[in-house]
Amino acid sequence: MAEYKGVMVYGEVAEGKLAAIATEALGCGRKLADDLGQELWAVLVGSGVSSFAQEAITFGADKVYVVDDPLLKDYQTDSYVTVMEKVIKQVMPQVLILGQTTIGRDLAPRLAFRLGTTATMDCIQLTIDPASKRLLQTKPVYGGNAQAIFTGEFYPQIATIRAKAMSPLELNTSRQGEIINIDAGLDPSVIRTRVLEKVVEEVEGIKLEEAEVVVAGGRGIGSADGFKQLEELARLLKGAVGASRPPCDNGWVADTVQIGLTGKIVAPELYIAVALSGSSQHMSGCSGCKNIVAINKDPEANIFREARFGVVGDWKKVIPAFANKVKELLAG
Ligand SMILES: Cc1cc2nc3c(=O)[nH]c(=O)nc-3n(C[C@H](O)[C@H](O)[C@H](O)COP(=O)(O)OP(=O)(O)OC[C@H]3O[C@@H](n4cnc5c(N)ncnc54)[C@H](O)[C@@H]3O)c2cc1C
Repeated sequence: MAEYKGVMVYGEVAEGKLAAIATEALGCGRKLADDLGQELWAVLVGSGVSSFAQEAITFGADKVYVVDDPLLKDYQTDSYVTVMEKVIKQVMPQVLILGQTTIGRDLAPRLAFRLGTTATMDCIQLTIDPASKRLLQTKPVYGGNAQAIFTGEFYPQIATIRAKAMSPLELNTSRQGEIINIDAGLDPSVIRTRVLEKVVEEVEGIKLEEAEVVVAGGRGIGSADGFKQLEELARLLKGAVGASRPPCDNGWVADTVQIGLTGKIVAPELYIAVALSGSSQHMSGCSGCKNIVAINKDPEANIFREARFGVVGDWKKVIPAFANKVKELLAG
């Protein structure tokens, strides 16, 4: 183990910028590196990604490894796993953190297999065990009903982190760091797939995963028309609408707004859960929310156990009154 040292963050780039999850991973990585008394490194892989190296430094990295190659223009498993394996074997970090994103979910287990180590997916907390100096990886288990802490004997210790579970550092433009270029050295024949087309999801207003306020409706909303009232409230609060699974299955809202085990994971400041019971499968997508407000006509509904504030009542009466009050307050 002696040769493994340092904390490395996979600096995911999305939509032409350093992704929010990368800055959150850097925030978490900085704390781990400080606790270990080691350096924090970021690795940027892609085409034209060199321009984000300085930004990674301002978010906490001491060193940024850049693998910039036209062959890495689109994420492809073959090329990215090959390049990341090369970087890790060269740099030998003790800890590697990725986001629990489409890319992180694909890369982390494959890298773990190639490197003969383990990967813990979807962590909500990472800390260093003061005695062993090993990474302690906390993640929800049993559909979000419990949390388990994992650690491993193998290096690098690889973990993916859930979006918004950790906070980025304050951006500090005076922070200094080193940028090191690594040649991809890719043989094009290793890339067995080709990206034919990219379809960007059209989103009106604020993206669900990025919203600071989410108004989520459940089966009790009863129709697509009912969701229009939730949209109105979300608009007033500059938030986004989400849903439990039944409204998506019933076609009242798009599948893309489903929150939960088989849907999206959100962690806004305010989550207004309307006419949904708070099943464990739903809660595993929103357990990281800072404040949950539940509106449900059943005082025994599980959501009240998760909520900070609760209103027992029929949403058809509560939501219009709530929206009117918000309008009144906004009008000053
Ligand atoms: C493998 C698997 C994966 C799953 N993944 C997901 C997932 O990702 N996301 C997800 O959400 N679910 C998921 N589910 C489904 C999950 O188990 C629940 O069935 C679902 O979350 C229930 O949705 P709900 O709370 O809207 O409906 P219900 O449990 O039926 O609750 C409806 C609630 O509305 C209240 N209500 C009714 N009318 C009113 C009214 N007028 N005013 C106020 N309150 C009212 C009721 O009191 C009740 O509490 C999954 C299930 C499985 C097996």
